[in-house]
Amino acid sequence: MAGWALTEGEYSKISLSDSDLSRIFASIFSSSSKNTASYKFGFIKSLLDNLYNVDSSLCLSFDTVFSTFAESYWNLILKYNLNQQSGKNAKITTILKGLFDSFGYDEVIPFESLSNEQKLEIIKNVRVECSKYVIGALFEDSLQSFYSFSKKTKIIRFNPAAYQFMCKNKVMLEKVNYFEWSRFLEKVNSEELTQAISTKLDESTLRSDLSMYRQILYEEFECHTCFYCGKSLKSKIHVDHFIPWSFVKEDRLYNFVLACPHCNTQKNNKLAPEKFVNGIVERNKVLIKESSRIDSIYRIDTNSYTDKTINNLYGYAIMNGFRSWDVSEFI
Ligand SMILES: [Zn+2]
Repeated sequence: MAGWALTEGEYSKISLSDSDLSRIFASIFSSSSKNTASYKFGFIKSLLDNLYNVDSSLCLSFDTVFSTFAESYWNLILKYNLNQQSGKNAKITTILKGLFDSFGYDEVIPFESLSNEQKLEIIKNVRVECSKYVIGALFEDSLQSFYSFSKKTKIIRFNPAAYQFMCKNKVMLEKVNYFEWSRFLEKVNSEELTQAISTKLDESTLRSDLSMYRQILYEEFECHTCFYCGKSLKSKIHVDHFIPWSFVKEDRLYNFVLACPHCNTQKNNKLAPEKFVNGIVERNKVLIKESSRIDSIYRIDTNSYTDKTINNLYGYAIMNGFRSWDVSEFI
């Protein structure tokens, strides 16, 4: 049976070294590996973006993975008009354009600005269609080494060895994935559309409106001082990804702090000094304890977040080449 048609699979229990896993990834990304549509790359991005959303058994729901997938493709297909398959439209293009038409907007709006009902409808349709093709296919392509899955329970469970490897090499894997995805899209789209293509891929899940998080932290939890320098926050309040967005590639309440423009600009794409880690871990305990103040979609998901999450992310970000902001230079 072809890999994509499998309804479930168990990861192989053979022990895998990091060099085995490097070799498997290299063959998945090799130019001799044939791709009809770009789904494999979109799916790998979705797995990498969700590495830190696993529960204690390293499980991810299809819904979590495909919400990243749907958001990314919504922006690539509708905002940038990028074809995802040679010749005819990829199925996902038909689905997303059909949903867009049914919403009745005059112009394309980014995924983040859609209503929750619309987002859920998109995610469901994308999951139903795309989970068919990608989950079993990558399972086979990875020689059954990355994860187990079941289309019945709609759960992916990472092989611990593959999971560790992906966390340690997240940034490099992401870059290779963007490179091969870009090459694929360049083949099936005009030159005009593929300008700045790697940025379009990288930023396909970037949200610009973080005002909801500002409101939650400032209004609901009375965070009225800069997380870093402690000065009181006036009119310009920046919402900072404590672990940089360029590493985590997503927006979760547990990773946001409020900062003054000065500190936020200086910190930019770097890690905060390690001494701030405890502060955010303690702050998150309060956000969890008093979560009833917040709309449930913004709450910290305690199935995946634990007191160790920030520390783990911090360590993995360093392993992936992130440096810390030398706070003493600026404050
Ligand atoms: Zn500050």
